[in-house]
Amino acid sequence: MNHLSRLLAVVALSLLPFLGLAQEPAVTVPLPATPGPGDLITPVNPEPIPIDEALRGRLRPLGKPARKVILVILDGLAASGLTFARALSPRESIELDRFPVVGRVINKPPRGEVNDSAGAASALATGYPGPITRVAVDELGRPRRTILEEAKARGFKVGLVSDTRLTHATPAAFGSHVTDRENEPEIARHLMQSGFDLMLSGGLQYFLPAEEGGQQPQGRHLLAEAARAGYTVVKTRADLAQAVSRNAERVLGLFAPSFLPYTYEPSFRQGPTLAEMTAAALATLDRHPQGFLLMVEAGKFDPCLHQYDAAELAAQVRESELALRAIADFVRTRSDALVVVVPDHGTSGLAIVESFDPEKFRRLATSTRLLADRLAATSPDLAAQLAATFPGLTFTAADLAFLRGATAKDFPHRLGWMVNRKLGLEFLPYLREFPKGNAYDHTGEDQFLHALGAHQGLFGGVMRQWEIPRRLAAAMGFVFP
Ligand SMILES: [Zn+2]
Repeated sequence: MNHLSRLLAVVALSLLPFLGLAQEPAVTVPLPATPGPGDLITPVNPEPIPIDEALRGRLRPLGKPARKVILVILDGLAASGLTFARALSPRESIELDRFPVVGRVINKPPRGEVNDSAGAASALATGYPGPITRVAVDELGRPRRTILEEAKARGFKVGLVSDTRLTHATPAAFGSHVTDRENEPEIARHLMQSGFDLMLSGGLQYFLPAEEGGQQPQGRHLLAEAARAGYTVVKTRADLAQAVSRNAERVLGLFAPSFLPYTYEPSFRQGPTLAEMTAAALATLDRHPQGFLLMVEAGKFDPCLHQYDAAELAAQVRESELALRAIADFVRTRSDALVVVVPDHGTSGLAIVESFDPEKFRRLATSTRLLADRLAATSPDLAAQLAATFPGLTFTAADLAFLRGATAKDFPHRLGWMVNRKLGLEFLPYLREFPKGNAYDHTGEDQFLHALGAHQGLFGGVMRQWEIPRRLAAAMGFVFP
């Protein structure tokens, strides 16, 4: 997609969230039904790996290693999220439906069955199950080497892309080591020490000193330190495009103080989008013959589900689809590229129930999080406002009492939970105010992994989450950890 049409797509999306979905271009890269000799896709490994082989370190490096490897983490998007995405797609299929290898991932943390982003990303980064809320450390808080650190030491270029913020749990687990995922100033310092070649996300405030309104101690200006270390530091879509076109060697892009904007927020159209950051990362890292390992997080499914904001979730599905398509097209046109896509855990128990009607959903879906900025639990005309916003939905006296009982902080969650249930999306029973720092409404079911490209067969069958980086290493020609 060229720059102009991408810009138009972003504008269309911000005005009419689902128009863009309906106008997706037809797929132009056919995939052979059965990959065979001579195809770009490596044939499926005929010998499945027993589940404990990886633990015993018996994963042998494979011949002709994959040199261009992308790990995509879909934060919080369990199987029901794939169903949701497909139901809203005009083609009734999503990019992942065309990936030839599917694995089943057991995502259990060391204790209990339910993971959080920190524990799951630590497993995906280090090759060991990680305690929840901790970032790439063991039970005693000692650092565990990550697959990106290992790949970098072996001469690969390495990068991180996330549409949340760079210091958030998922990207953090690939380049920092802290015992508390909320210690984001420390995470930022570790990431700057990592020497990773490319990092694109939000979270600028964690890199600035207190005197500039940031979270670092006085005098600690991580952007200045990054520039001295040879990074091209960029803060806008235009600066990123320029850095790519000028072949910048190392790029640090921080495009928002905290999370990158949600699609319904006006600042979203300033970009860059997840797909744009991903394309920039591939262009930058692929210039080097030694190959690369890139982690891309589509990280907003989880907060959208925590907030029961199904309209924003649908928009995020579309954003991630654009990024996945760019990656899949990259992989399909190279013989030494591999992409592995995996969720980290389920969130809020999203379920599509019989009353779900995609057409009705498209017509009525509104970002309930942003709607809650305009309404209030105490508004005297709350019932009239809801009736005007959602013609065709009925709000009973009990519904209104439930909404009116909310604190200001809780109101967006109650509103989303109620409205989206009326549109045929069920969630876990409504809980309460957000408790701090755990996986309180995550879910612990097994997840589907999708793989495409060189040595894709390593990712079929059943595996534990922490085996995935070990399998990535085997595909890339080395043993890890
Ligand atoms: Zn997560």
